[in-house]
Amino acid sequence: MAITVGVIGTGAIGADHARRITQTLTGAEVIALTDVNLEQAETVKNTLKLNATVYADGHELIANSGVDAVLVTSWGATHEEYVLAAIKAGKYVFCEKPLATTAQGCQNIVDAEMAAGKRLVQVGFMRPYDSGYKMLKQAIDSGEIGTPLMIHAAHRNQSVGKNYNTPMAIHDTLIHELDVFRWLLDDEYVSTQVVFPRKTTFAHDQLADPQIVLLETKKGVRIDVEVFVNCQYGYDIQCAVVGEQGIANLPEPQAITMRKNAQLGNALLTDWKDRFIDSYDVELQDFFDGISANKLTGPSSWNGLAAAIASDACVTAQQSGQIEKINLPERPELYR
Ligand code: NAP
Repeated sequence: MAITVGVIGTGAIGADHARRITQTLTGAEVIALTDVNLEQAETVKNTLKLNATVYADGHELIANSGVDAVLVTSWGATHEEYVLAAIKAGKYVFCEKPLATTAQGCQNIVDAEMAAGKRLVQVGFMRPYDSGYKMLKQAIDSGEIGTPLMIHAAHRNQSVGKNYNTPMAIHDTLIHELDVFRWLLDDEYVSTQVVFPRKTTFAHDQLADPQIVLLETKKGVRIDVEVFVNCQYGYDIQCAVVGEQGIANLPEPQAITMRKNAQLGNALLTDWKDRFIDSYDVELQDFFDGISANKLTGPSSWNGLAAAIASDACVTAQQSGQIEKINLPERPELYR
């Protein structure tokens, strides 16, 4: 029997996840939808020809006994209340990042899950499911480049809207790196500093762009990440791990190389949806497979909390200009 799914928030990623559940993945079916804009939920229902009910709000959807699992894809600020409600109802819940907008909010979710006594939450950190990152991790774990010493990374977007401000470069953008480096290195952060190069003229008043985030880990690995969200030329994710005996680079997305008009080159992606499309499929299938096996193994609430603690420290560092400590509590047994 298919796992019945309710989707809260049918904007860009909510609609895309509903599409992949319906057209690409196996073992799950969207039977419930909601959005603050109910017309938007109706549009997704009709476009995908879903046999689904549109609910007036997320709590009503969660309370419906016919819904086995909940997808929280609404605005970040609403995630915590819906995830807590789903846990309270004993339902599995896939929550897009951020798990909550504050570390305390993530801690509340971890506490609720521990009280429930089992993992019910998977966070939408999809990079560990990306084939390129998997190859990079394999290269590190195999010892081919020796002990990792440094990471040089970049997260570049072509442009962002007027509502995107300086802290969002951390909470919304860097958060993926904050999660994936912990996974790549099997390590935790101890401190961070943020420095600001000359500002691009393409950034509006509320945004300092680009930024360079410096991180230090417990094992002493130093990481620099350029976050540049108005880079103009495309959507570009770079990651080079420097080890004692070599360097492992994140592979570039596949693209046809052309010789044309006296030039040799290939097109770059411009949309994050295209860059990680395969990993979104794999992460969500893993969520449903985990439910079927009664054991979730994907990114947990603990990963959400660890990323949030690091992210809060980076925002403090943006404001202070100082090196800020990152203090992660002891990892509970449930998340080992
Ligand atoms: P979006 O297009 O603005 O979609 C969010 C949708 O949720 C909108 O339709 C919004 O309504 C609706 N909504 C807001 N509050 C709600 C509530 N209380 N109950 C029900 N629906 C509500 O944003 P998005 O790009 O899809 O992002 C959604 C979340 O996914 C964000 O947390 C974002 O960080 C995350 N995300 C993750 C990735 C990833 O790579 N993993 C990629 C993209 C987004 P309106 O009609 O009023 O806008």
